[in-house]
Amino acid sequence: MTTNFYAPPSAIRAGRVVLPDEEARHVHTVLRGEAGDEMVVVDGEGGWYRVRIDHVAPEQVVATIVEQREDVGEPAVDVTMALGLLKKRSRFETFVEKAVELGVHRIVPLRTVHTEPESVREERLRNVMVAAMKQCRRSRLPDVAAPQSPEALLAASEVEIRLVCHAGDDAVPIRRAVDEAGPASSALVLVGPEGGFAPSEVDAAVAAGCRPVSLGARRLRAETAGLAALQAVVGSTGGGAEANLEGRGQNG
Ligand code: SAH
Repeated sequence: MTTNFYAPPSAIRAGRVVLPDEEARHVHTVLRGEAGDEMVVVDGEGGWYRVRIDHVAPEQVVATIVEQREDVGEPAVDVTMALGLLKKRSRFETFVEKAVELGVHRIVPLRTVHTEPESVREERLRNVMVAAMKQCRRSRLPDVAAPQSPEALLAASEVEIRLVCHAGDDAVPIRRAVDEAGPASSALVLVGPEGGFAPSEVDAAVAAGCRPVSLGARRLRAETAGLAALQAVVGSTGGGAEANLEGRGQNG
């Protein structure tokens, strides 16, 4: 089957996978899967399994693992993207979907001076993320943190590279900043909301070790800026080890 499926680690035991209801319905009703068919199941925590179906019922699919790998489709660098909450929730959700595709590790919605007191729809975000993880063939489900201030986030973060996207005179091109930082296994990138960061927020981020970086000569919408910054970091850190489409094999 051409699409990947999701099952939480608790559904994978003793060499077998039991697909959750919704995934099982998809196999049974939409794809008309049957015993003997092979498919790929990911557990959202880096587990990747090629399995062979033993049994299909409308709400239950049981399969046997024939090959197991780790971290298929995962980048070499853990990038946390902190993005100001946006007025339109659908724009934030679009950002989340695309960020999963580009390999984000963690997403932190930021409450900033120029952010409306918005919330996120957690259940909806999770569904968007699971679908994106399956579609783009990664094996890890990124984490979405509770909305917080940049100060709280910076105080709690232990990462090797810290960047704040800011179209100011002091900003260096993001790729140069990443190159100069050298190979790293973790990075944090701050992106402002529609109204941008307040100058005091940029100052505080810089004081907390963030380098101001530019994404080019155009002013991008926040979600575009977040995606461009993410790709710049994922695509240029980790000493070229990014190409991990095959993951690490364990028994095959
Ligand atoms: N009205 C705001 C624009 C905000 S754009 C202002 O004038 O500041 C939303 C966010 O995207 C910004 O806070 C910044 O983090 C990021 N961004 C957009 N375009 C950028 C660029 N060319 N370089 C760096 N960051 C950018």
